Amino acid sequence: MAKTNVYETALEQFEKAAMLMKLDENLKKVLRRPKRELHVSIPVKMDDGRLEVFDGYRVQHNIARGPAKGGIRYHPNVTLDEVRALAFWMTWKCAVVGIPYGGAKGGVTCDPKKMSSGELERLTRRYISEISIVIGPTKDIPAPDVYTNPQIMAWIMDTYSMNVGYSVPGVVTGKPVELGGSRGRNEATARGLTFTVIRAAKHTGLDLSNARVAIQGYGNAGSIAAQLLSEQGAKVIAVSDSKGGIYSEAGVDPIKVLEHKRETGSVVDFPGTKRISNEELLTVDCDVLVPAAVEGVITKEIAQDIKAKIIAEAANGPTLPEADEILYKKGVLVIPDILANAGGVTVSYFEWVQDLQSFFWNVERVRTELRRIMDEAFDGVMEMKEKYNTDPRTAAYILAINRVAEATRLRGIYP
Ligand code: NAD
Repeated sequence: MAKTNVYETALEQFEKAAMLMKLDENLKKVLRRPKRELHVSIPVKMDDGRLEVFDGYRVQHNIARGPAKGGIRYHPNVTLDEVRALAFWMTWKCAVVGIPYGGAKGGVTCDPKKMSSGELERLTRRYISEISIVIGPTKDIPAPDVYTNPQIMAWIMDTYSMNVGYSVPGVVTGKPVELGGSRGRNEATARGLTFTVIRAAKHTGLDLSNARVAIQGYGNAGSIAAQLLSEQGAKVIAVSDSKGGIYSEAGVDPIKVLEHKRETGSVVDFPGTKRISNEELLTVDCDVLVPAAVEGVITKEIAQDIKAKIIAEAANGPTLPEADEILYKKGVLVIPDILANAGGVTVSYFEWVQDLQSFFWNVERVRTELRRIMDEAFDGVMEMKEKYNTDPRTAAYILAINRVAEATRLRGIYP
């Protein structure tokens, strides 16, 4: 993983947009900073009888447009600084797609791979009890992130519900469908991303039915994006995971690659393909590149060699600021993360709406509403791009900052 400080990257992107849109200096002071940060100690009885105390965080960056929203990450590298950056990003992501949420994020510094299911359950229940003073269906709604899953969301829903004395499905999203989860949530990020790629192809005159696609990362976002883009007629010529990449000029069948990964643990050595490195994957001769793994992979050196016409950022922060400039000058259309991967939080929003109404949609409705939101957001970003003669990332920030700044201005600074 490239060493990047995500908060610095996020602030740099924000500053660039704020300068270009001549954001009021007083509003800027407010919008740069998190509204609220909670640091909790989480004592957990481990299976061997020891007591471990973990650090947990919940940061609410901004709630001017509605309740705070953002995932919970369980990872050994979780720090307050990282959670703060991710909360900051969530504010702009929700605003760019126009869903009525502010930004938040949570995290616990732990290594879930080394913990039993019982330990994880006790950790989750105590963490949620500790942060229950700031979360709730009208206050702040968590969701899954790195190494948290629908089972953990079910424990969150149950813990909160036990503490208040009745069932509150709307306190968390990403739940199993049986507990008020939404249909279409699993595919949401990839489907939202595919809608933006369809729009971007039209915008740039690319025929998607003849396009060649390369995808870095073959997990939830990457592997489903591969299937959905190939349904559009595109040819998936290269994919990778943490163990390496594969290339085939003739294209691969995304479902068969997924089966191979399930059987062998990696996409590598899929029959009929040539092995490539993750760096080579980024610079392969293709039309659409989807970084769907980790942050900071598109450096300025890589950017110089990129041949794709469209980059759709499924991962958060895959492109470093200095690489952005190079790509813009080269005429590559980068669909920025806060737009390209916002399908996930958008369907989380649908889940919350369904929970509050106790009325559940079929998957067709989820997809139709998602398409409407993604298309409108894409067009809004392109409009800002033209208006300010800037790159799509800065344009997306301008659109988002405008919405949050206007909400803050209309509400006024209390008291
Ligand atoms: P995942 O864990 O399901 O898959 C990640 C994939 O990336 C795996 O195939 C893994 O092998 C691969 N990978 C890990 N490190 C790598 C490396 N250094 N080089 C190449 N491949 C590597 O994760 P996901 O849910 O698909 O998320 C992928 C990215 O998309 C993350 O950055 C995540 O924050 C972002 N994202 C996901 C969602 C979502 O709903 N899934 C929503 C928004 C953003």
